[in-house]
Amino acid sequence: MSGDKPLGSCRWGTGAVPCRAHVFWLKHERTGKTAPIDVEPTDRGNIEVNLEAGTYRIVPEPERAERRGSDSLFMNHWVTCPAAQSAYGARPSRQRAASAHDG
Ligand SMILES: [Zn+2]
Repeated sequence: MSGDKPLGSCRWGTGAVPCRAHVFWLKHERTGKTAPIDVEPTDRGNIEVNLEAGTYRIVPEPERAERRGSDSLFMNHWVTCPAAQSAYGARPSRQRAASAHDG
């Protein structure tokens, strides 16, 4: 048993608001798209992580309610990251910035 976890740190650290938060870099179980997930569980979260597989999935609403208080829900760091919000959060449009690659 290795104790390896997909632990990394936030990449949005080069802007006006540096962020070096620890995150899990995990792949969506279906799309394979990598996302940073906050390492601290929160009842406000909607993500279940599988650190052994290195994947995450979105927990649907009814299941979410059952899991509250169990420390098994996590948030996408995209939502909480101050650096990401300073870069994209002020935009009024609802377009996804998922494909934006800057520099
Ligand atoms: Zn961050």
